[in-house]
Amino acid sequence: MYGDDTSVTRRRRDPEFRGAVLTAYQYRCALCDLDLRIGNITIGLEAAHIKWHQASGPDVVENGIALCCLHHKLFDIGAFTLGDDRRVLVSEKAHGSQRFDEILLRHHGEQLNAPVRKEHHPAQPFVDWHREQVFKGCARPL
Ligand SMILES: [Zn+2]
Repeated sequence: MYGDDTSVTRRRRDPEFRGAVLTAYQYRCALCDLDLRIGNITIGLEAAHIKWHQASGPDVVENGIALCCLHHKLFDIGAFTLGDDRRVLVSEKAHGSQRFDEILLRHHGEQLNAPVRKEHHPAQPFVDWHREQVFKGCARPL
């Protein structure tokens, strides 16, 4: 058993966040359109925080994007970020083989799929935070 950790106040994650984000993006990766299901169970699709939960990013849909697990990882590690109009910007520091081109680089400059409702679009302060705090290096030229 771990002792009570009274020195740290952890914010609880809103259990509704994942469902709200996935619904907003119609249960598809906003980058690659992955919508894999087994029966009615969605596989490999996640609600990514733009401004991280541990950095006090709120559990609201405009701070979320539906991403497949691979694109979620690449987003959280700063291999890509969002520019104006939800345009995907891939870092100059991210590179790899032909598979890298297929998985990420081909999306450079593309617009991320929009959520159904305009008010659910990624909010600029969260996008700015991601670009400044998470994104690695400079974006490749468009
Ligand atoms: Zn994806």
